[in-house]
Amino acid sequence: MLDPERIRSVVDLQQRSYKLLRWATDAVDRGFITFDRLHRYATLPEATLGWLESHYSDVPLNARPDRDQLRPFSNLFSTYLENSFDLIEQPGQRLFSPEAHCFCPMCSWLVAAPRLQTKKVSRQNKARARKLQQIAIKQVAVDHAHPIIDESIEALANDPALRETLALVAYGYDRLRRVDGVAEGPATLALWRGFAWTTHGSPNPDFELTAQAILDTQAKLGGAVLAT
Ligand SMILES: [Zn+2]
Repeated sequence: MLDPERIRSVVDLQQRSYKLLRWATDAVDRGFITFDRLHRYATLPEATLGWLESHYSDVPLNARPDRDQLRPFSNLFSTYLENSFDLIEQPGQRLFSPEAHCFCPMCSWLVAAPRLQTKKVSRQNKARARKLQQIAIKQVAVDHAHPIIDESIEALANDPALRETLALVAYGYDRLRRVDGVAEGPATLALWRGFAWTTHGSPNPDFELTAQAILDTQAKLGGAVLAT
């Protein structure tokens, strides 16, 4: 069962991740974030953590996690960047000379922040997203101690009335793995589109992710599983 406290916490951290990226993009453009100090970080989560620790008071309150949440936040933020965007090298548009800036993982992303491109979702990513939804169905069946056969899992996974529900519950499980630093790659983007996009394939401008929606859909999926 998705733990309500953990889901609320991770959705809060996720909203701060969006705001941090938006703020950082603007701050890079305005020259507020500079890259003249060399860092020695090997991985993006480590670089994010170190960067946040030293810039903590610069980050706006609504984008800043509590200090005791810096590590899970750094895990979530780094997987958000790596799984959602491609780092495109466009030397002609570089704001900073290649020799002069820090090339640690965080600075490399921040330098590119104003020009990030959303990753494409491949057929493989969609297949993996589908697998994650089937795993979520099995998990919910286990939570209810309800035996379920593969045919029923398949039938639920194919039910168009459960499209958003399945994507959102699987996404909830994925969030909890993310704060531990385990990421599924762009399959998560495919899940996201399952509930935040319309069936016509465009983003729903009114959509806003809430912890309550994840928990409510989990309960709804529980009902569907119990009916099999
Ligand atoms: Zn750096």
